[in-house]
Amino acid sequence: MHPACPVCQLSFEPEPGFYFGAMFVSYAINTLQFFFAWGLLVYLYPSYTLVHLLTD
Ligand SMILES: [Zn+2]
Repeated sequence: MHPACPVCQLSFEPEPGFYFGAMFVSYAINTLQFFFAWGLLVYLYPSYTLVHLLTD
C-alpha cells in the first residue's frame, strides 16, 4: 500500500496513538464480560468456590 496518496499526498498511515482509545473500550467490554460470566457461574453453581481450583 502507498504510504501517501500519489495524487494529493494525503497520508494513509494513522498517527501514533490512533488505536489507543479502542484499548479502553476493549478493556471495558472484556471486564463486563468477565463479571457477567462470573455472575452466571455463581448463579448456576452456587456451592462451587474458587478454593476448589486449588484444593480439588
Ligand atoms: Zn488523494
